[in-house]
Amino acid sequence: MDLERHDFELDELAERIAKGDHRLVALQVPEGLKIQALEIIDEIESRTDANVILSGDPCYGACDLVHNKMGSMGIDLVAHMGHSQMNIDSGIETQFIEVTYDGDPELTPVLPFLHQHREMARARLKESGEEQTAESEEEAQEKFLDSVGRMAPLSDAKLGLVGAIQHLHLLPEFKQRLEDAGFDVTIPVGGARLSFPGQVLGCNYSGDDPSIGHYFFLGSGDFHPIGLVLHTGKPLAMLDPYTGDATEMGRKQIDRILRQRFGMIMQVDGAKVFGILIGEKPGQMRRSLAMRLKRMLERHGKKGYLIALEYIGPELIDFYPVDAFVNTACPRIAIDDSIRYSKPLITPFELEVALGEKKWEEGYRFDEIP
Ligand code: SF4
Repeated sequence: MDLERHDFELDELAERIAKGDHRLVALQVPEGLKIQALEIIDEIESRTDANVILSGDPCYGACDLVHNKMGSMGIDLVAHMGHSQMNIDSGIETQFIEVTYDGDPELTPVLPFLHQHREMARARLKESGEEQTAESEEEAQEKFLDSVGRMAPLSDAKLGLVGAIQHLHLLPEFKQRLEDAGFDVTIPVGGARLSFPGQVLGCNYSGDDPSIGHYFFLGSGDFHPIGLVLHTGKPLAMLDPYTGDATEMGRKQIDRILRQRFGMIMQVDGAKVFGILIGEKPGQMRRSLAMRLKRMLERHGKKGYLIALEYIGPELIDFYPVDAFVNTACPRIAIDDSIRYSKPLITPFELEVALGEKKWEEGYRFDEIP
């Protein structure tokens, strides 16, 4: 990562450390930044009187705030980099630093995808308008299925402009450029887990609404795009500010993931004993959901064991004598990583399908944390 082109807001951090007379500060950075973490520590320690302790554990989101364990070391301020604040309180004063990137890619390479997707959205919108006149329910279903197999009519075909946290500052300028190119653009505003308009997380796309017909994601990698398409079923184009490359989240990739998820559901058919995983991280803990799943399993004559973990990995759970696992911690563990586990690892929705409480035919439901 090019440190020079990222804003670590170290002046603001040093000011806060001095103002609060903080002497022991925890630094929490995402995996991609760990290699530079020691340089960042040098910078902070040279500008302040504080000592810095790096949290060496993996950190994939603001759901994963340094909490009681580092608090007991005497930490009184956490500098959390690469993510924004969400609707949780770790109990320790925290400075969130988004680490914005100054790259400003050309719009041109992504325009062909956007034109194509707008046509798809308009066609679907037209079909939505014809819903009343469809001859049979079967015919209607055939018409309105989105890319995750749902009937979700649109009220408009707007372009939803979203981005990863490092690039959100570009959205107003991109909105203008896209409008100049003839698009009707909206920057969706999500729920309490999100801090900024246009922000998306791997587990939350709550800004989506029926007026949005297709998406444009400003960011790198396919982590957010996969989740966004699984959640919304809408076409999505991507522009990477680091490389300037444009691409789309293709139907093939989504179909492959859906086939894999359906395969998992098939594998748990007949399973009697489940491990229900509960995340201990403050922003991943869904105890009530886990309890509900345990009761549901009991209603179906099956057994569910509640297992709480801070980190979830094959080496920590594979050995339990259960037939399968249901994950209520970070939803992406089942979607992106289940291949690493020797037993089926499914989401709560997938368990409901396996037990016959929900129907696969009515479309895939992404496991969102609100
Ligand atoms: S729960 Fe998972 S996807 Fe959501 S913010 Fe945390 S690490 Fe990211």
